Formats: sequence, C-alpha cells, structure tokens
Amino acid sequence: AKRSGKDRIVAYSPGMSLAELQDAALRDALRTAIDDRVVRLHYQPIVELETGRVAGLEALARWRHEGVDVPPDVFIPLAERSGLMKELTADLLAAACARLASWTRGRPDPLSVHVNVAPSQLIAPGFVDTVAGLVASHRLPAGSLVLEITESGIFADLDAARRTVTELRGLGVGVSLDDFGVGYSSLAQLNAMPLDSVKIDRSFLAGVDTDRRQATFLHAVLRLAEEIGLPVVAEGVERPAQLTLLRALGCRHAQGYLLGRPVDAAEIPALLGGIAVP
Ligand code: C2E
Ligand code: CA
Ligand code: CA
Ligand code: CA
Repeated sequence: AKRSGKDRIVAYSPGMSLAELQDAALRDALRTAIDDRVVRLHYQPIVELETGRVAGLEALARWRHEGVDVPPDVFIPLAERSGLMKELTADLLAAACARLASWTRGRPDPLSVHVNVAPSQLIAPGFVDTVAGLVASHRLPAGSLVLEITESGIFADLDAARRTVTELRGLGVGVSLDDFGVGYSSLAQLNAMPLDSVKIDRSFLAGVDTDRRQATFLHAVLRLAEEIGLPVVAEGVERPAQLTLLRALGCRHAQGYLLGRPVDAAEIPALLGGIAVP
C-alpha cells in the first residue's frame, strides 16, 4: 500500500538531540522519496580493457533532496535504520531489470547490469522469489543480471548467504563480491561461496602509480582472486598510470571516473558502442 507521505510530520519528543531530529526529518523525506520513486539509478560502465567494450553497468542509487544530492553512503544506511530497504531494493531492482531488458534487446554481445544488494536484503525472506519474478518477466539472459554483495553480507549468516547465492546462481543470476580485499575475514569460507567475480576496492588502487608498496598490495590481491579462480573488476580507476599497471598485472575489467562516471540511464545507449580506453 502506498503511504500518503506528503503530510507526514516529524514527531518531536523532549530530549531528542538536534542530530536525532535531523535524522528523523531526513528519514521522513526519504520515506516519501521512495514512495514517489524519486530515488533513481545512475549507471557506470564496466569496461573490458583490451577492447573498450562496455561489458557491464553498475547501477548506483541517487537521491536529490531539496536541491542537494544526498550521497548513498548517507541515505542507504538511513533507509536500513528506518526499515525502508525492502521497498527501496525491490523498486531499484525492478527499474534496473527493465533497463537491462531494453538495453540487451537485439544486442549481439552480452551486457550485464550490476545491482548492489545490502546484506539485510540478500537473506530477507522472499528476496530470491522477487529476483526470480523479474528474471522471468523480463526474460533476462543468463548472467546478465549480477548482484553485488559485500563480505559483511556473507558473514552475517553464512549458511543463509550460501543458500541464497546458490539459488540465485540457479536462476542464472550472477553474484559478485564487492569491496574484495577490504575484509579478509576468512578466505576458506569465501572460497566455499559460489561467486562469479570479485570487485577490487578502489582503496587498493589509490596510490599504485606512486607508491611501490601499494602496487605490491594490489598485485597480491589480484593474484589471490586468480588463485580462487574468480574474474576481477578493478574499481576506482582515475588515472592512466593505474590502467597501465592493471593491464600489466593481467586485470581485464575496470571501472572508474577515467573510463566513465555514473550517468543517467538516458545516456547509456550512446556508450554501448564502446569507449575509447586511454
Ligand atoms: P560501491 O558499491 O563500492 O560503489 C562504487 C562507488 O565508487 C560509487 O559511489 C561510485 O560512484 C564511486 N566511484 C566510481 N568510480 C570512481 C572513481 O574513479 N573514483 C572515486 N573516488 N569514486 C568512484 P556512490 O555512487 O557514492 O555509492 C557509494 C556506495 O553506496 C556504494 O559503494 C554502495 O555500497 C552504496 N550504494 C549505492 N547505490 C546502492 C544501491 O542501490 N543499493 C545499495 N544497497 N547500496 C548502494
Ligand atoms: Ca512505493
Ligand atoms: Ca558496488
Ligand atoms: Ca565497491
């Protein structure tokens, strides 16, 4: 049921701090924004370095509130604290799948759309059914929908996560481990998870062109992924020197401002012919 939203007011109780009051006001605004589908997706290209082909697009949530872009690092945790993630995830997943279907129709080479899924949603009841419904109704080609999950999502409830990931794989949905290398909680358990790929966090790329120790670290993380047998997407490529190093280390896919910023869906068809890789 859709909430009326518009006339919602913040309930003030004595003893509320200013921060709490602001949090409550923002939460009400976010609730309305989700109801009104004001939270939207931008898409950032994931590029095959050798060819410049756009192999995939990462969907990233955007919320413009009172003329200000509220960062997802702020409103996603707020949605989480406020019990809004289920609806937000369902809406964004549906939107991403509809875009994916329209972009892949009649296109000869494969294209994937990556959707970020919060740990709480991955193991929420009904999540796999929701995904199955979208895959079926849009007739999405196997492997074209990829869900990005984090290590914290896996380790919150290892058995539930493994079951869910296995079911998703059974639907032809890819699962990619986001922010790989940041957690390192337990490699043995990671290894037992049926993943399709890993995304190397941009912190591993930050200083690689200026600091040898950073480059050694990146090399180690890339080799680790290779040994587990997982394809890698390197995140946060901003400078040509980072690309040069990634290529030298055998990394085939990358994402970052140098290759393309997250953009509105309307701009995506123009990118699908490929981009000039510096
Ligand atoms: P993430 O999944 O690791 O997404 C990558 C972030 O890096 C995005 O930030 C992207 O805009 C940014 N980025 C891409 N290339 C570069 C670069 O070259 N340099 C730098 N400095 N940054 C780059 P964004 O869009 O602000 O999202 C932040 C985080 O919020 C995401 O991190 C993800 O954890 C979360 N998020 C975003 N959208 C969603 C969503 O729809 N659902 C959920 N659950 N989380 C989301
Ligand atoms: Ca709604
Ligand atoms: Ca991500
Ligand atoms: Ca990431």
